[in-house]
Amino acid sequence: MSSDVPSTSSPAGQAGQVLYRKWRPQTFAEVVGQEPVTRTLRNSIASKRIAHAYLLSGPRGTGKTSLGRLVAKAANCASPEDGEPCNECDSCRAFLEGRAIDFIEQDAASHNSVDDIRQLRENVVLNPMSGEYKVYLLDEVHMLSGSAENALLKTLEEPPPHIIFVLATTEPHRVSATIISRCQRFDLRRIPAPAVAERLAFICDKEGFTLDEVSLQEVARSAGGSLRDAINGLEQIVTYYGASPSPEQVREALGISVDARSAQLARLLLADPSTDSLGGEAGQALAEGLKLVAAVRDDGVDMRRFSREVVGYLRELLLVKAGVADTLDQSKETLAEMQALAKQANRAAIVSALKAIGRLDFRDDPQSSLPLELALVDLVAEAEKAVERPAAAAEKAVPAPTEPQPQFSIPASTAEEVAATATGATVGAPEPEAAEAEPAPTPAGVPADVSAGSPSPDSSGESAKGPGQALLARIRDACKESDKQLAALLNASCEVTSLEEDVLTLGFYHTFHLERMEAGGYADRLSELVSQELGKPMTAKLVHSPRRPTPGKVKSGHLVQAAQELGAKPVPREPEGPIGEGEHGDS
Ligand SMILES: [Zn+2]
Repeated sequence: MSSDVPSTSSPAGQAGQVLYRKWRPQTFAEVVGQEPVTRTLRNSIASKRIAHAYLLSGPRGTGKTSLGRLVAKAANCASPEDGEPCNECDSCRAFLEGRAIDFIEQDAASHNSVDDIRQLRENVVLNPMSGEYKVYLLDEVHMLSGSAENALLKTLEEPPPHIIFVLATTEPHRVSATIISRCQRFDLRRIPAPAVAERLAFICDKEGFTLDEVSLQEVARSAGGSLRDAINGLEQIVTYYGASPSPEQVREALGISVDARSAQLARLLLADPSTDSLGGEAGQALAEGLKLVAAVRDDGVDMRRFSREVVGYLRELLLVKAGVADTLDQSKETLAEMQALAKQANRAAIVSALKAIGRLDFRDDPQSSLPLELALVDLVAEAEKAVERPAAAAEKAVPAPTEPQPQFSIPASTAEEVAATATGATVGAPEPEAAEAEPAPTPAGVPADVSAGSPSPDSSGESAKGPGQALLARIRDACKESDKQLAALLNASCEVTSLEEDVLTLGFYHTFHLERMEAGGYADRLSELVSQELGKPMTAKLVHSPRRPTPGKVKSGHLVQAAQELGAKPVPREPEGPIGEGEHGDS
């Protein structure tokens, strides 16, 4: 029978071995995140009530085989203390040095034939060579064939007294009930990220690696509850970047930049145009969101995965809002951020964003950013619709400032960037119009050019707007079934800027949508649809037309113009100041 060479060894053991093996727990107390299981196992060894068969189930990397080794070592230890192996007696030393002959580890996936098990049955009747127990660790036991499982069952039914079976599986539902009924079963859980981070810190300390706490938490979190994955991740990072990787290098290695952006997109999805408290008024949020999605796509990120991460963030936000933040594997900083956002975000908005992103269909093309973009447009349009009336009412009720100060909700950093781009000025230079965080004075008197009803200065398309928008709605209806993507692109992302004898001009608020239209080759299809609607040959022209401020005209300045280019609109109320400042840098 072929048995794997046990690889247990002391931390001081062989050089060059993988970190995970080197730092396997050598006592039950060192096992991370499985306290109820380790306590029970330790007690059973201390009281000499050792079962003949244990079934350890749990996700990968949660310590199943490590626990199996510990059971074998502790059961054979000459002087265990409270069920813990002494790590000093001959038997313990044999385990530590990887030469324990009474410990047989076998991967059921590669030894799953009935012959393998028959051989095992022949061997189990032989007495242990040195210790008290012969321990068989059968990993991935659900991989045994049916007949091999039957053969194993026969052994489990009448186990020789000196035998301990430790069966490990990631898929307990695939292990037959009769096998399970012969075992003492333990279900291992995913290891909480803080516990993983703590173990990583311990290993770093011993190995002389220097990683900051946030980096360790990120390594831990990215491993999704698997200590093995976390330690392997750590090893890869220090192998590549050396013993003292910078936080940026760690993030790069883990691909965390994607994570940060998914949280940022989630925040934008929740931007409430009526409160201006969540980092953006709707038009601004849409522009930022589309820019971010495009950047993610251009980085070659799998958009399906990215969307899942957005959903994950929203889901966690909902949990935070429900007051169960302590169940989340998040760093203190992230949790504080989420709590602030959860306080301001409306629960219904979170749920509707969660639903919208959760049901996105990427089956056709996981690299396509379109589903996400369209969901973003829909959500923002929805939010806008929801606040349109209350906002208009609020504006009439509140006297506008004498000095019309456009209250853009762009985070200061973005505003400064915009100002710098527009003027060539240095970022950070004070810009009077960028003083968006300061409450604007509200003396009485409504200047004519800020009143809600005043026409926009660029009114060339105004006359076409009524019939034009109706035409647009008809076109959208006409292609709703046949061209879903086109219909979605026409929804809330553009307006008719002019309708002439034989040319319909559609102005898209954002270049992203315009590019989408062009890339999709939709201009011809649109011309066709317009011609059909109007009963005469028409040409559809697509242009970029930044959305004009709707609640009222604002005094224009280079910052205002630049902000409008980004899709920003004036906000009728004082902003409470955006949250998450400084996180917009990568969008
Ligand atoms: Zn010992």
